[in-house]
Amino acid sequence: MSWWQWIQEAIFPPRCIVCKREGFWLCEKHNTFVPAPKNEASFEDLDEIFAATAYYHPTSQKLIEYFKFRGFRDLADIIGKQIISTLPPEYLKTHTLVPVPLHWTRKLWRGFNQAEEIAKAIQRLSPQTPLCTDLKRVRRTKQQAKLKRVDRLNNLSLAFEWNGSEIPKKILLIDDVVASGSTLDSAAGVLKKMGTRHVSGVVFARGGKPCQNSGNEN
Ligand SMILES: [Zn+2]
Repeated sequence: MSWWQWIQEAIFPPRCIVCKREGFWLCEKHNTFVPAPKNEASFEDLDEIFAATAYYHPTSQKLIEYFKFRGFRDLADIIGKQIISTLPPEYLKTHTLVPVPLHWTRKLWRGFNQAEEIAKAIQRLSPQTPLCTDLKRVRRTKQQAKLKRVDRLNNLSLAFEWNGSEIPKKILLIDDVVASGSTLDSAAGVLKKMGTRHVSGVVFARGGKPCQNSGNEN
């Protein structure tokens, strides 16, 4: 346990992030996740997307809020566990984890890259799976949500660069949430140009409306 985690736990002992019951980050009642909404979108370079759950669900939103914006990095383990449960098990043997990078200015501001923390958590749970952080953000992109579609695509081109020697043949491209998938697709384009053959986008939560049989809601 790092000194930072130690201080955090001393000041903020685990409480359910939804109902505030003490003793755990998610109590028994709230430790449930709904399936991700279906998405038929097709991509230029990204081969597929695996999403563990839906962003509209309150538990997912709270997890992302506490993890990403309030800095509770321990929650990465809960997120990593959910992601692993949605992946075909053989992928953890054949693919390399590559987190979607943040531009260094944003990483400095937030203190960490949420995608990298999730990738590390997946690796803690699956030590055989390699992790590589050689995908870099070379240009600071504007916040995607504030742009029109055409601007979004322009905004993303040339945003990524592979900054390593050998590129893995099969990649699990990790991020916390996905909306349109254009960021993942743009990164996949760079990876494929460099020689990767298969890129799966792997996220915790997918945006969008509930699908018809999405299970229990709270
Ligand atoms: Zn609870």
